[in-house]
Amino acid sequence: MEYVCLGCGERRGIDELLYTCPSCGGVYLLEDLDFDKLAALRTGPEWRALFDARAATRTTALRGIFRFYELMAPVLEEEDIVYLGEGNTPIVEAAPVLRDAVGIPFAFKNDGQNPSASFKDRGMACAFSYLKALVRKHGWDEVLTVCASTGDTSAAAALYASYVGGPVKSVVLLPHGKVTPQQLSQPLGSGATVLEIPGVFDDCMKVVEHLAENYRVALLNSKNSWRILGQESYAFEVAQWYGWDMKDQCVFVPIGNAGNVTAIMAGFLKLLRLGIIDSLPRVIGVQSHHADPVWRYYSQPDPATRTYAPVTVQPSVAQAAMIGNPVSFPRVKALADSFIAEGGERAFCVVQVTEQEIMDAMIRGNRHGHIACTQGGECLAGLIKARKLGLVSPGEHAVLDATAHSLKFAGFQDMYFTNSFPPEYGVTPDASLANAPALVVSPEDKARLSPEAYTLAAAEAVVARLGLAKKA
Ligand SMILES: *Cc1c(COP(=O)(O)O)cnc(C)c1O
Ligand SMILES: [Zn+2]
Repeated sequence: MEYVCLGCGERRGIDELLYTCPSCGGVYLLEDLDFDKLAALRTGPEWRALFDARAATRTTALRGIFRFYELMAPVLEEEDIVYLGEGNTPIVEAAPVLRDAVGIPFAFKNDGQNPSASFKDRGMACAFSYLKALVRKHGWDEVLTVCASTGDTSAAAALYASYVGGPVKSVVLLPHGKVTPQQLSQPLGSGATVLEIPGVFDDCMKVVEHLAENYRVALLNSKNSWRILGQESYAFEVAQWYGWDMKDQCVFVPIGNAGNVTAIMAGFLKLLRLGIIDSLPRVIGVQSHHADPVWRYYSQPDPATRTYAPVTVQPSVAQAAMIGNPVSFPRVKALADSFIAEGGERAFCVVQVTEQEIMDAMIRGNRHGHIACTQGGECLAGLIKARKLGLVSPGEHAVLDATAHSLKFAGFQDMYFTNSFPPEYGVTPDASLANAPALVVSPEDKARLSPEAYTLAAAEAVVARLGLAKKA
């Protein structure tokens, strides 16, 4: 395998952990030099049969994202592969009532059911497997992994580092007060060194880039192309779940640093090139109006004159995607171009949604049995917006990336239910959806009554509240 620079095209070997091109500063993609040989090795149907058979394997190394080993990082030895149960996350079709209300069949892929409760585990499993291989090869006695994070990258990095242990140590840099309490508890629980600075994610990113350029640290942000590689597994799983038939499928992905959306496009392109699928799905990126540089770029109609500019982010409930200057933007452009070249003009687009739409969609989704985080809500809002704009038709089916577990973002649900959003978010809750616990017996009554009388009083209070009818 080799690193290929998207800026100047220069290639380098993978003996070293590289993030950006030393010649031009561009970002890398990893390329398997033997990829064309894979096409000669097996036909499309033979690859499908292999991956389908592997779904039943008991070999730990091939149970997670490395079910698709040959498509991912076929340079890694089995002993180096780190498996914490990531990947193969469920795809849950929308509850019928919700599906009918939205007007198009769709499903959530629950990437919040990964070990650290977000899709970031896919990339970390690959990056840490590679790191383990490097440590073994070079006999390093200490490797300091660092990342900037909107919360989930650090949770995943800290989890995998603590599992691998030995020389591998984890340091995470967070924007102070800009990650949820649940997300903060994760790297703390894994024993990482947690450092904070005032500001937003983009500020943290500049600091770790400076560190990676000048000091001996292993950067685990999505500039690290090993992470992008691991995240391609999402595309492989979607294709496999739908019997390798991607016709009329639209895959919705929230865009923050743009690592995930590019990984997913890269994954589908690989499947197409090997004849494992015979058409691409459409990929539709979603951004909040409070952090929308990629949408702004693609909303300029003429591809020849589009210009990219970072934006200053406003507070967003889709906090994990609240990024004004995505490091993977050059990757988006490269992959969107390939996607459109192979799949036509409609194969890739980006829609913009409001904070209000994101919250309404998340609450609605979860009231119908889903477990979407705010970014998953962003995808549902994106689908509703795309329907309104006529970008998707009722004959299509959508797969929405619920990128993290709803529990990580419980605070935003709480603000919705208690109507306590700070004004910057611009979210007014639908009061009919508010939900709150009701205390039916006072602590004073509990203190006053005997245990038996207290149970009876509590039961009677429940009966009165629910208006229960007595059994005949
Ligand atoms: C990181 C993250 C995103 C954004 O993904 P990018 O690869 O940065 O575009 C979206 N949702 C969740 C839950 C995340 O953790
Ligand atoms: Zn370069």
